[in-house]
Amino acid sequence: MVCADVGGTTVKSALISVGRVRIPQSYKIKKFSCVQTRSGSGFDGVRESVLRAIENVMTEDAADIVAIATAGEVNWDDGTVLRATSSLPGFEGYAFSEDMATALKRRTVVINDACAAAVCEHYFSNRRAESTFVLTLGTGLGSALVTDGKINGDSVKDLELGHRLFVENGYECRCGKKGCLEQYLSATAIKRDAGTCTVKEALTNTGDDKCVQAKRNFLSALNYALNMIKKEFSPAEILIGGGLAEMRQLWLEDFYNEYGHRDVMAARQGNKAGLLGAAYAALNGSFKGQRKGERSQENV
Ligand SMILES: [Zn+2]
Repeated sequence: MVCADVGGTTVKSALISVGRVRIPQSYKIKKFSCVQTRSGSGFDGVRESVLRAIENVMTEDAADIVAIATAGEVNWDDGTVLRATSSLPGFEGYAFSEDMATALKRRTVVINDACAAAVCEHYFSNRRAESTFVLTLGTGLGSALVTDGKINGDSVKDLELGHRLFVENGYECRCGKKGCLEQYLSATAIKRDAGTCTVKEALTNTGDDKCVQAKRNFLSALNYALNMIKKEFSPAEILIGGGLAEMRQLWLEDFYNEYGHRDVMAARQGNKAGLLGAAYAALNGSFKGQRKGERSQENV
């Protein structure tokens, strides 16, 4: 099968083979591609990037199902984007699953990227926890909780913690509210606070005062989020994914030293989590309205 992970900066895609017994250990990435999302090119440009990423790994006989993980809030049943991130212009209300199924002539399943990452971390773990919480720190902030059982919209929840109030009358958010957590806990927030520095410079403490403060703000917001998650959801495990998790050697030890939370780890599957999780969810989940496409066989 073919999978894609649509983020604010890149669209990753993979051709994945799945063993006859569809256990997670049998999933193998056969081909991998990564293209720029090209947010600045508007809806058509981003859609084209998604199609190009998928075509890069598509083979005629190997993929009757396409599984897509995407940033933004997604309706689990019909694969429509309910609320898009600013990096996916025009995606709000977009019938993503239906459009891709028509364009690719294959059954297509679309889920939120944090949900896909959480599915992967939960089901692909050798020692499956009772519940897995994944916080994805990238261009935006994603959050999802998986509790053991059947994979459906009730057991895999997109919690949208990014739109919880964090600062009264704070920065405006794309959702229309002010002071949402995402505006303080994301690479976008670090970049804004760091002024002329890059995110990397801010995280390595190599810049000016503004830069140093940007990192402080980030770590403090993360501490707030983790306390909230533990208090409200008491998950058996909490994992951090996304682009900032990939740069964790620059900040995670500092975070542990200042705030503790040493039980919180980086996501185990790294940047492939969205792809593998989307694949696993598409093959094992219940998606009532996401079964369109000309081919009906489920050859994978
Ligand atoms: Zn918001």
